[in-house]
Amino acid sequence: MVGFRMAAGAAYLQTRRRRFGSRDELEAWQQRKLRAVLRRAQQRFPYYASVASDDLASFPVMDKTGFLDHFDGLNDRGLRLDECLAAARTAESDRRFDTTLSGVSVGLSSGTSGRQGVFLTSSAERARWAGTMLAKALPGGLRGGARVALVLRAGGPLYAAVNGPVAFRFVDLYAPLEHQVAELDAFAPTVLAAPPGLLDLLAVRLGARPNLVYSIADVLDPDVEQRIGEGFGAAVGQIYQATEGFLGITCGHGRLHLNEDLAVIETEQVGPGRFVPVITDLYRRTQAVIRYRLTDVLVEGAGPCECGSPLRVIDRIEGRQDDVLQLRRPDGTPVPVFADLVRGAVLGVDGVHDFTAAQEAPDRIVLTVDPPTLWDSANSALGAAFRAHDLVAPTIVAATYTPPDPTAKRRRVSRSC
Ligand SMILES: [Zn+2]
Repeated sequence: MVGFRMAAGAAYLQTRRRRFGSRDELEAWQQRKLRAVLRRAQQRFPYYASVASDDLASFPVMDKTGFLDHFDGLNDRGLRLDECLAAARTAESDRRFDTTLSGVSVGLSSGTSGRQGVFLTSSAERARWAGTMLAKALPGGLRGGARVALVLRAGGPLYAAVNGPVAFRFVDLYAPLEHQVAELDAFAPTVLAAPPGLLDLLAVRLGARPNLVYSIADVLDPDVEQRIGEGFGAAVGQIYQATEGFLGITCGHGRLHLNEDLAVIETEQVGPGRFVPVITDLYRRTQAVIRYRLTDVLVEGAGPCECGSPLRVIDRIEGRQDDVLQLRRPDGTPVPVFADLVRGAVLGVDGVHDFTAAQEAPDRIVLTVDPPTLWDSANSALGAAFRAHDLVAPTIVAATYTPPDPTAKRRRVSRSC
């Protein structure tokens, strides 16, 4: 534990001190790091042994399926996917979250769909993660005497292991709400991080008044962000953390920056002003995360940020690529329709508080609205928005609105066809 704390402290200091004066400086630094990462990958990960050059473009882009298919050749411990999955699932069903194999910890991705991902981290990597997270998430630094509460599903990275100048409290996302409220009020956090659905509930129930609130682990829509901010009377930031890595965080000027000081992030355009990130982690050693394509759609933000950081600014995380609606123009051309169009139309109806829109077939969307009495207005607004964008409006059918489960990933707009 002493070793862990020292390693976390070193990562903390390195992150706090490192400043890139310009985009050029950042990119030059990334290129130097990247070269070493790629050379090591060719030597240490069997899957990359045959890659001809140490140029990033020579490495294949990897999605989750490829990452799992080639799992055995993408870690430096000789671990097999089947043994890691078996160990992690046993631990999860016993509600023990400390699976280690060959000295590395085995984590499962929460996986909103498809196969479950498996991520391996050494103690040194977890320490680095913790130090980096603290450096970026605490504007006042460690001297500020921060009290940090995290409400997360158990089994996430080793949050509880960081201690010392910062008081930490880990609260189980699956505990009953009244227990969470009691625990948080007793702890009185100055910084609170939780999924947005839960923050929305806590904002009106919690007596404790954190001065900084972070939304984690799910999409934060602008209307929910505003409600949380008003409820707490505090700034609301976002921590963009996936099992694949710590990918971004809101700065002191309220803008969401990607962590390009931890990863090289290539952008794959998926629509106007929107891209899917392809990440190459510059620090992970146990497992290769090289040109790993995430499925999140990110909306580009205008830079540079007034905070002075040259790290790329994004406007927001819009959701998963799989959940982009697929509609058509009158001439039959397919068009991706992003969540903000649907959200803007439905929430634009005065009095609508929440909704879900699920495309279940190419010409059919199931719409639920809270309050249900406004369904007809929401339906008309949505149809009108589609037509205004020269789209063939699909059939919109009604279903019963059910309040969101704060412990589950939330998709207001989704597609299952
Ligand atoms: Zn900034």
